[in-house]
Amino acid sequence: MVFTVPMGEHEVALRASIARAVDALAAPLHALVPARLSGDDYIQLVEEVESLGRIIDALRLRLAGDAESRSDGPIDTFGALGHASAADGLAALAGISVASATSRIHLGRAVTPSLTITGAETPAPHHHIAAAVEDGALGIEAAGVLVRELDGVARRVSPEILDEAERGLVLLAAGTHEHPPLRVDLVRMQASVFIARIDPDGARPKEQRARRKRRLRFGVETSEGLIPVSGLLAGEVGITLKNLVDAHRRSPTFADPDAADDVDVAVDADPRTLDEKRHDALAAIVGAASRAVDAPDLGGAAPAVIVTVTAEALEEPNGFGVIDGLATPVPVASIERLMDTRGHQIATLSPAGRILSLGSVQRCFIASQRRVITARDGGCIIPGCGIPAGWCEVHHVIPHRAGGPTHVDNGVLLCWGHHQKIDSGPWRISMPGGVPHVRGPGHHEWTYVTKARRWRPPLPATG
Ligand SMILES: [Zn+2]
Repeated sequence: MVFTVPMGEHEVALRASIARAVDALAAPLHALVPARLSGDDYIQLVEEVESLGRIIDALRLRLAGDAESRSDGPIDTFGALGHASAADGLAALAGISVASATSRIHLGRAVTPSLTITGAETPAPHHHIAAAVEDGALGIEAAGVLVRELDGVARRVSPEILDEAERGLVLLAAGTHEHPPLRVDLVRMQASVFIARIDPDGARPKEQRARRKRRLRFGVETSEGLIPVSGLLAGEVGITLKNLVDAHRRSPTFADPDAADDVDVAVDADPRTLDEKRHDALAAIVGAASRAVDAPDLGGAAPAVIVTVTAEALEEPNGFGVIDGLATPVPVASIERLMDTRGHQIATLSPAGRILSLGSVQRCFIASQRRVITARDGGCIIPGCGIPAGWCEVHHVIPHRAGGPTHVDNGVLLCWGHHQKIDSGPWRISMPGGVPHVRGPGHHEWTYVTKARRWRPPLPATG
């Protein structure tokens, strides 16, 4: 509803003040060179300009708060100028985006008094916030946070409690003589705790809304055989996963007794990007989980993945097999790695495809072997790598196809990432006397490695 009464004396005075302020500020603004100010003067000026800014913001909100009712009434202020909506008109007038104009109008409505049909003034819906904004005590950003939080529970909480909550939150955010105003990010945190307390449903509605949005999606395999993953994890799941991945991406636990100073060299020598390291940490977690599932009986339990490869393909350097559920063929090197950790079973088929014989699971390090290798190696043996033993795979140092036995003296722990690259990457492994040694970036001689804390072999004779 718009009343076209002549401008009152207050409004006339306001416009005159604005005109005087604009005039008075022009010259000092032009002359201001902040670099010439002392530290104290700089701080003081920032504070003074901010308080002026908050007054301007309060004026902006007041005007924006009336924008929508101007488009609804019989005299459409913005429509008459050809604007599609109040937000559209305000955006054009103020030179801001429609999104900014929309949120300014929304917040403005919450802190602007309105008129009834008879012309009587009704206070702003959030009058405590309005008063603090007007006094320049509460910034526009903090006011927005409070309005959003309060409106979120308005339907479930009585007006009296809501009013009291608004008063308390304004005191908290705007500060008092005893404590300074809160930073906006702290206002947001405090306000949601405060609101959860007065909401009869507590924090549940927010959590339930979030729960409904949880999802994990596996996309269509790419032409390179990668599986896209997307989704929204429940907070606790996401944080747990993030912490797990981060912890094992960051913490090198290399305890090389003879070359502890080389840790940094070894870490720097890792050419993987952060994203790649995160992926590899996740791969290790997935590997550990799949081993936990079939740990009671590695030989007989259903494997987590089924890989099919012919005996002939295994002998060819460029041979390949297929992983059940994946369209892209997998090279034999990767299949051999999987066979190291999961074992394989030989099936002889007749030309017509009938199963003639089925061997038992072979070539895989069994649980008792894995335990002693873990006691010896303590984790991925590559210097600088922090992946713990439980997440590692057991690698045949002399490949099975080259006659390497499935024996503890020929098996070492490698994380998924290092196991993948062990044939093509910079690290070499040897097992003199059944003791793991590596050579690679930062370790030009064969170096004895272990991450086990309690066990120390006799010093190897290295040159
Ligand atoms: Zn590793």
